[in-house]
Amino acid sequence: MPATDIDQVVNLCKRRGFVYPSAEIYGGFRSTYDYGPLGALLLRNIREAWIRSMVQMRDDVVLIDAAVLGPPQIWEASGHLANFTDPLVDCTNCKNRFRLDKLSFAVRLRGSVKS
Ligand SMILES: [Zn+2]
Repeated sequence: MPATDIDQVVNLCKRRGFVYPSAEIYGGFRSTYDYGPLGALLLRNIREAWIRSMVQMRDDVVLIDAAVLGPPQIWEASGHLANFTDPLVDCTNCKNRFRLDKLSFAVRLRGSVKS
């Protein structure tokens, strides 16, 4: 199977020390990443540029830093439990299951789908 563009980008990032799947040597931990020396600096620069652009250069936005984890009552009160879905796609070829939003991103990167 030929490597896709996204596979090449992921492999390059790992070889150059930018980003790795978290706990990769122990089988990985989905949707989390560890940043190497260059990746940690890049992440910090992107975060600072985003805060400068989206918060500091505006007078109608303030910055907060809240916990990501919380009790289920938070998700119920916010409407996420009733309204939030992650559509999944089953590949009949490789038998893997993908989140549609992630699959669409990968397909767009390959240039197979025009958005
Ligand atoms: Zn497949």
